Amino acid sequence: MQFTCHQCGQPCEKKPSDHVQKGRPWKHTFCNQECYDRWRAERHLEVKAQWLRFQREVWGTVPIERHRPAGAREYARQFEEKARLTYLPQLGFTEIVDLSAMSNQFFVDFVATFKGRRVLVDATVKLKAYVPEKVGLANALRMRLFIIHVAPGREGLFHLNEVRGGRVVSRVPAALIREHAELRAAELPPGSAPA
Ligand SMILES: [Zn+2]
Repeated sequence: MQFTCHQCGQPCEKKPSDHVQKGRPWKHTFCNQECYDRWRAERHLEVKAQWLRFQREVWGTVPIERHRPAGAREYARQFEEKARLTYLPQLGFTEIVDLSAMSNQFFVDFVATFKGRRVLVDATVKLKAYVPEKVGLANALRMRLFIIHVAPGREGLFHLNEVRGGRVVSRVPAALIREHAELRAAELPPGSAPA
């Protein structure tokens, strides 16, 4: 029987049994392994791009003009304030010293007390923050380091993460994004179209 290759569109014969060597039979028809691999790679990029778009929709994005150094500082400041005055106290942080207000030369935004110990805390609007210098500082001081991710597009959405175990990246878990999207979907009145 003749089929069309799902990737290149060439006619080919479907023999799914030929292609089980990698674990699963192919759902679509491909003329060869090469076409299948190419399709897989493209599909992977597509799924990844969709997920990034979705994350940005839920989390919010930094307006493009705020990427300029002048605007960026002031813009970031409002989320640091949100973290300092609202989210961190909610999470049990006390005696928060606002280093960021003293100078923009500091590596971290706050020093605070958490569970009876002084700790370092940094606030970011990013979903993923690369923080090797902050980790270096925390290690040298033998203090715990927390990153609080504050959503620029959603009131009340944030994630606190402790960076430890030799890691230098802090990220918002995918599960939180999905969960928040579902919550929001559930809040919509029945029959209304999502904005
Ligand atoms: Zn093909």
